[in-house]
Amino acid sequence: MTIQHTFSILKPDVTKRNLTGAVNALIEKAGLRIVAQKRIHMTRAQAEKFYGVHAARPFFGELVEMMTSAPVVVQVLEGENAIQRYRDVMGATNPANAAPGTIRKEFALSMGENSAHGSDATETAALEIAQFFAGNEIVG
Ligand code: GDP
Repeated sequence: MTIQHTFSILKPDVTKRNLTGAVNALIEKAGLRIVAQKRIHMTRAQAEKFYGVHAARPFFGELVEMMTSAPVVVQVLEGENAIQRYRDVMGATNPANAAPGTIRKEFALSMGENSAHGSDATETAALEIAQFFAGNEIVG
């Protein structure tokens, strides 16, 4: 049994539509525990750093605009195989391809406004958590 932490963002399309609780219900139903959570309005610098890996992609400007357009909820989720488990709960990047019952199928609006971010590996999870949370803010 591997208990992991993963980093999650509920994106602006979620906060704008007052769906934070609805998305959190799917997270908790999947057996993940929300061990840290705060609502922030990301700065441009924070968003550019966070999505730096996509800086050369044609959608980068649109992505940064979207992430800074309204508040987001940043979270640390804990659970068995939390990184893959949360990717499964989120569903495919493009909501049109997401499976029924996933966050993106139920709530996402488009490929850009796709409701949630979840880390893709242990190394990125650690870096992403450290960008937004101090160790003493994570209470398992
Ligand atoms: P993820 O790991 O499933 O979030 O997907 P990626 O790492 O490939 O992409 C990061 C984020 O960039 C996605 O969640 C989308 O919000 C955004 N994104 C990816 N592809 C596109 C695209 O073609 N157009 C737009 N507007 N946004 C995109």
